Amino acid sequence: MTDTHDILEKTASFQTSLQVRGTEVHYGVLCERKLWWFTRGMEQEHGYDRVAEGRLLQEETYAGRSRDLMLDGALRIDGLDVEGEGIEAVVTVHEVKMSRGARRAQRMQLLYYLYALRQRAVDPVQGVLEYPKERRREDVPLTPQAVVEVEETLQRVAQVRALPAPPEVPEPMSVCKKCAYQELCWG
Ligand code: SF4
Repeated sequence: MTDTHDILEKTASFQTSLQVRGTEVHYGVLCERKLWWFTRGMEQEHGYDRVAEGRLLQEETYAGRSRDLMLDGALRIDGLDVEGEGIEAVVTVHEVKMSRGARRAQRMQLLYYLYALRQRAVDPVQGVLEYPKERRREDVPLTPQAVVEVEETLQRVAQVRALPAPPEVPEPMSVCKKCAYQELCWG
């Protein structure tokens, strides 16, 4: 029988192989400058109200589910469930979001979770982006094209990490208004 415990066991060796956190993938799509600050230990978002608000939303909305699972210190999965047993079992990873404002980044972060799980023989695996405030959900399948996108994103994350200075952004973007690094970038 496959259950959440089995999945955590299968991912127990992530620490040695998984070099990229889910947040880095998210930031890599959203803003590479943000990714760079983050990789330099500027983890201001942890104290940011929206993060706490998101966690509360998750707890209130999905009280009965296995949730907020930390897989080997790198992937924080909002929710996970398993339907079926043995080779029939299908694992679904749920990513809960406040809004669709950063949908591309949200999708890539979730695809990365699916990709990492599949690499550890957790398969079949599928993803769902959930927006409880909007009563909306979106299936996110790990297609062959999506695998290519994940691998390209991981390569880009590695390149940005290696930069000696933060990548330039020519002018403030709409996403900057809600960014915890706004002061750092624009004074
Ligand atoms: S303030 Fe804007 S440019 Fe700076 S890190 Fe945040 S999103 Fe990127």
